Amino acid sequence: MRTSIATVSLSGSLTEKLTAASRAGFEGVEIFENDLLASPLPPREIRARCADLGLSIDLYQPVRDIEAVPADEFARNLRRARHKFALMRELGADTVLVCSSVSPAAIDDDALAAEQLGHLATLAQDFGIRVAYEALAWGRYVSTYDHAWRIVEAAGHPALGTCLDSFHILSRGSDPKGIEDIPGEKIFFLQLADAPLLAMDVLQWSRHYRCFPGQGGFDVAGLVRHVLRTGYDGPLSLEVFNDVFRQAEAGPTAVDAHRSLLVLQEAVGAGELPPPVVPTGIAFAELVTPDAEPVSALLGALGFARTARHRSKPVDLWERGEARILLNTGPAVRRDGTGLAAIGLESPDPRAAARRAEALLAPVLPRRRAPEDVPLAAVAAPDGTELFFCATGRDPEHPDWRADFAETPDEPGTPAARIDHLALVQPWHQYDEATLFHRSVLGLRAQESVDVADPYGLLRSRAVTNADGSVRIALGVGAAPADDTLHAQHIALAVEDVVAAARAFRAAGGRLLPIPANYHDDLAARYEFADGELDTYRDLGILYDRDAGGVFRHCYTRTVGRVFFELVQRDPGYRGYGAQNAPVRLAAQHAGR
Ligand code: MG
Ligand code: MG
Repeated sequence: MRTSIATVSLSGSLTEKLTAASRAGFEGVEIFENDLLASPLPPREIRARCADLGLSIDLYQPVRDIEAVPADEFARNLRRARHKFALMRELGADTVLVCSSVSPAAIDDDALAAEQLGHLATLAQDFGIRVAYEALAWGRYVSTYDHAWRIVEAAGHPALGTCLDSFHILSRGSDPKGIEDIPGEKIFFLQLADAPLLAMDVLQWSRHYRCFPGQGGFDVAGLVRHVLRTGYDGPLSLEVFNDVFRQAEAGPTAVDAHRSLLVLQEAVGAGELPPPVVPTGIAFAELVTPDAEPVSALLGALGFARTARHRSKPVDLWERGEARILLNTGPAVRRDGTGLAAIGLESPDPRAAARRAEALLAPVLPRRRAPEDVPLAAVAAPDGTELFFCATGRDPEHPDWRADFAETPDEPGTPAARIDHLALVQPWHQYDEATLFHRSVLGLRAQESVDVADPYGLLRSRAVTNADGSVRIALGVGAAPADDTLHAQHIALAVEDVVAAARAFRAAGGRLLPIPANYHDDLAARYEFADGELDTYRDLGILYDRDAGGVFRHCYTRTVGRVFFELVQRDPGYRGYGAQNAPVRLAAQHAGR
């Protein structure tokens, strides 16, 4: 299907928006009137610019407050419309969006609305233009799509149809099934937006919180299925008013937007994406550091042993049981020193996983590698984290990534551990994009988003996981951009016995994050503990949480660069990440700086 985007969905000047839309793969745009008014380019040049970029102008919008008014007012409205139609002809746009009136002058009279929209359509027809009438959710008398359609139907004019907007329909709780009663050729346009489920004034909700399909709580795909059953063959067009997108760079937003439509088309059976290849485990986490010493000391204290060294790069493999960390001391690409730069995902079919990622607009990373190195497919996540798709070693067609490493004589000697979860920090404006990326590209499921109070802001965090929990990635975002370094990434190691692991870590010279006594005093009020159990937690800084499925005990190391470790003991049924303890942890980390 053709894809289109309203210029209001992107930041920047009109030409910046057009360029971003074209680069991201859109075939058309809706020109939002304010973008045109503010542009120094005359309409003919905008038309030429779009043509150069391979973009059609699918819609000009919006024309407001036209219908169901007294005759003298309608005459003035027609004059205004004539002016816009002349402009549209220069622009080369053949469909105009007319929103249902919000004017106090409007009259509650469907017959009058139909008659006047018919007149408007006759005028539009003279200019070769079609009128798409849309019910705003806050329209004065027309606020539902079926009402708008009844008026369009009553007008019976060939140049008058309806525009469906998923936000206006779903925010009102209207049943989209009725869309199937509208003939496809009378649906002149389809605008798509999702939104988080919020209980608030619908106008404010629409103007500030719309998001791309798959990023909110609406069943946009369900609505699109109803629309497609009518035979609608126009574009899928995104119209998203969003405070974050207004500020974020247009290029990445446009990519995020286009990805959302690719995923949506797949969901409605109209796409051609390679199927998802869900990762089956974490092969490794890669830390880059300009200074190997503190990280090596930390890994050593955590019971990791350096077991191998890359044949052609300054990269060491550290292992503790199933947990594998690559320590890369090559030129650190991150501006801020030690950090989590890459994740190796065990994949049943690395090449197919990379193909899907590429089809979903993930940048494929060029690998600088020696001729004898194992070819690893890798893509970049929106935050720049490199994702490697690693063979599990059981498939002869895909060599094991460990073949690049020569064993070193060190012996791993501590009890087993594996990576429980990895926590990544997203740029402030990429939270929804990151979630959709990991869900769609990797086929992971997103858990609920949680808000976490930090002494100096608010964090949001959302985990994406595979079905058996062997891949868990927590995507977090801080409220203030400047706080990025503090909301550090972390690697959580699952151990059999967190008390033993914490003691061993401390005995080996490791420093645990101290937790205030008030926290443990409160734990005593909330839960019952065996004799001495709480004292042990208090001593080691172990935090405690419990849900319907079991118990979660965890503690933290001090931060090195931008990264710290967490030791966790997770009951198999526990689903969370200790989110309710996170404010205490964050405060302790602030205090320890
Ligand atoms: Mg709309
Ligand atoms: Mg954690």
